[in-house]
Amino acid sequence: MTNLVSDVISTVDTHAEQTALWYEGQDISYRAFWSQVRRFAGALRGRGIEPSDRVAIYLPNLPQYVVGFFGTLHAGGIVVPMNPQYKAREIEHLLADSEARVVLTLADLVPYVTQVKDETDVEHVVSVGDSDAAESFAAFLDSADDVSAPVERADDDVAVQPYTSGTTGTPKGVLLTHRNLAWDARAVSELMDGGVRSDDRFLGALPLFHIYGMTVTMLSTLFEGGSYYPLPEWDAQRALSLIERQQLTVMHGVPAMFNDLINQENATEADLSSLRFVNSGGSSLPIEVLERFEELYDAELYEGYGLTETSPVTHANQPGSRRPGSIGQPLDGVEAKIVDGAGEKLPPVERGPVEDDADLDSVTGELLVHGPNVMEGYADLPAANEGAFTERDGKRWFHTGDIGYYDEDGFFYVVDREKHMINTAGYNVYPREVEELLFEHPAVADAAVVGVPDERRGETVVAFVAPGGDVTPEEIKQYCLDTLAEYKHPRTVEFVEELPRTTTGKVQKFELRDSADQ
Ligand code: AMP
Repeated sequence: MTNLVSDVISTVDTHAEQTALWYEGQDISYRAFWSQVRRFAGALRGRGIEPSDRVAIYLPNLPQYVVGFFGTLHAGGIVVPMNPQYKAREIEHLLADSEARVVLTLADLVPYVTQVKDETDVEHVVSVGDSDAAESFAAFLDSADDVSAPVERADDDVAVQPYTSGTTGTPKGVLLTHRNLAWDARAVSELMDGGVRSDDRFLGALPLFHIYGMTVTMLSTLFEGGSYYPLPEWDAQRALSLIERQQLTVMHGVPAMFNDLINQENATEADLSSLRFVNSGGSSLPIEVLERFEELYDAELYEGYGLTETSPVTHANQPGSRRPGSIGQPLDGVEAKIVDGAGEKLPPVERGPVEDDADLDSVTGELLVHGPNVMEGYADLPAANEGAFTERDGKRWFHTGDIGYYDEDGFFYVVDREKHMINTAGYNVYPREVEELLFEHPAVADAAVVGVPDERRGETVVAFVAPGGDVTPEEIKQYCLDTLAEYKHPRTVEFVEELPRTTTGKVQKFELRDSADQ
């Protein structure tokens, strides 16, 4: 089966009394969870919501998020997830573009919705917590008769319309079908030894508005009757204590979370032995962070890779088959290739990672993928869709925009995002290489490297560093100069307290570039 609703219904039937969701000491069984889902669906239908109508969910990770998500699908609707850190200006674009008719949000966020409502098609606002300008979540559920049968949707119908990161340009709506998401959640579950089990307990630290948290935590858990423990806001201490106290078995996170965990003073005292699978994705995991995490927490950390457009995971390392520094091998059923500027497939290296970049020039190119998890396309953006896909060998290949290479064993390596590459005096510099080196410095807690316009060189390399010890910018500069080719070293090293990151851990490089430019 590849339908998100019927897949979970079969779990509800077989695991009725088991915990589906756990939040602040409260257990919500599959039976209770699904009864709320049906009432949410009934309330939507009672307000005239039709199949394919959009419902925006503008909430942090909470049980109500999961209810709203499945309730929308149950009613035949399409979920539009929105980052709860967004303010009025940012949600206006998403709401207007998606033509959402309902918004499920937090009482504190209702004013932002009210501010933009007239510019959009929003008719109903439902809030978790009391608000004068919205109907409460509880009253919304109470208003409905329990509808037992879901509105039927085909596997190829769109289920979710997330918007891409927004670290660059205007966010685009991504059309993901039931099949895309259900396939990916299952494939990710298979990465774990024996697959996800009904006694698995998942830390819900990754935000649900982002595809990564949606698929690899929420969907993978609920498909198999496991329990999902939402964490509304990332907090390393809270995550550690939740894992320990509730004996959680699975953690998925972004590198920034693992970096935070290795910098906790009580790291060596925390007992994370209940975890049987720990995975990092969303951006490149510095090898230093991986090794330190494994050493401190005595756990294995596996890196995976994907994009919103691919539901998200296309590549992963897994028990018995992993290589630090690599994004792993394509999932079974996903095809991947590296192509040059003319679209020709490039050959593999013998074995990665390749240390000497002189050897990389002829094998590095754009990563293209093809598989059942690749999106239908961007909503109403024909030009963007044309650029995103190439037809070749009877297949529709998706352009990831990431630059990398692969080896004869089928492990792929992402060197950097195409648009992050720096061209300085004719030389290409991949920020990731300089960032990896910075992470190895004992007094560097966090780092990011960007290119800023420069009259003489075209672009120049600038490093932003959050220091974690006694060090000066000059020392960091010298350290890079001692280790890297001269053209790669940062000519400017700026110290900052914290790097600007998206909630999914991606450094907002455009912000750094702007601040360096001034
Ligand atoms: P998003 O659409 O927000 O999921 O972002 C997708 C982008 O995240 C990809 O195109 C990559 O640039 C980046 N990304 C995700 N996972 C990794 C990884 N393991 N290593 C390097 N980059 C990654």
